[in-house]
Amino acid sequence: MRAAVLREYNAPLSIEDVAEPACPEDGVVLKVMACGVCRSDWHGWTGEHPRVKPGQIGGHEYCGEVVEAGPLATHKLGDKLIAPFILACGTCPSCQEGNQNTCPNQRLPGFIEPGAFAEYVAVPFDHNLAHLPENLSPTVAAGLGCRVTTAWHALTGRAALQPGEWLAVHGTGGIGLSALLLGIAMGARVIVVDIVEEKLTHAKGLGAEAAVNAADGDVAAKIKEITGGGAHVSVEALGLPVTTNASIECLRPLGRHVQVGMPVGHTATMEINMSAVYLGNLALYGTRGMPPWKYPSLLALITSGRIDMSPLVAREIGLSGVSDELAAFNGPTPPGVAVITDFLS
Ligand SMILES: [Zn+2]
Ligand SMILES: [Zn+2]
Repeated sequence: MRAAVLREYNAPLSIEDVAEPACPEDGVVLKVMACGVCRSDWHGWTGEHPRVKPGQIGGHEYCGEVVEAGPLATHKLGDKLIAPFILACGTCPSCQEGNQNTCPNQRLPGFIEPGAFAEYVAVPFDHNLAHLPENLSPTVAAGLGCRVTTAWHALTGRAALQPGEWLAVHGTGGIGLSALLLGIAMGARVIVVDIVEEKLTHAKGLGAEAAVNAADGDVAAKIKEITGGGAHVSVEALGLPVTTNASIECLRPLGRHVQVGMPVGHTATMEINMSAVYLGNLALYGTRGMPPWKYPSLLALITSGRIDMSPLVAREIGLSGVSDELAAFNGPTPPGVAVITDFLS
């Protein structure tokens, strides 16, 4: 099958003909219908992601159709499925408590085992997968493997965002746009922050009530002014010290910061304003992924038509276009994300 393989960090992926994956006993092989290119893939490509090594086939934000099912699989041939990027074991204490995204036995296609920058991907623990709703396009559904689900869990499972609250979103990439759209659907008033004016305009067109260009400085003060005292909830979607501090400092007393961006490599440890946390009686939440039992609530919201996630996708690309998308993350990116829908070009 055709796959895009990481051979050398920071160099174009190698498009190769590789063996099709073997079917796991407790899972399936999917023919990949769509796979997003995510900032986490970029972390792997730069060599900063601690687990991604040369030889890796990336791609963790995918949906596909079952072409092979193992004897212990939950799903069957022909099923069209959405996969969360964290595949939990289902039996450990974390899983049994419903916190599958913290499962210590988790499997991670695209990071440790071969991912979906390929025609086919092997998916163990297929009980984590959800059926692709009929009225949802695979291109949009790919985001339900990582960015949309991560944002949904950040807002509902971690920060418990309430209607009428102010939500600040720092960084309007895939996660940030997801948080914006979901936040609006939840009845929050959303302020977006970015350094790319075009992305701020795009976000305002999607319903952001206010936009702050971080390049002009003083992000926290501006948000406090716009919101009359600070945001109730703030999402950091980049994993950088400057945006993490702006996110913490823009909160009102008792506000909730959610770390969604992945601090990795040189930002894995960072200096943050703990005085603001102390004085503001703030809560800091970390979040990663989403337990798959939350798919029904999210899919119900999307398929009801109350929220349109399609503005998230800016362009559909071929497999050979992934390298350019990864390189683009080296600098400020245009609005929206790229999704591979053609694995033969
Ligand atoms: Zn991702
Ligand atoms: Zn588990």
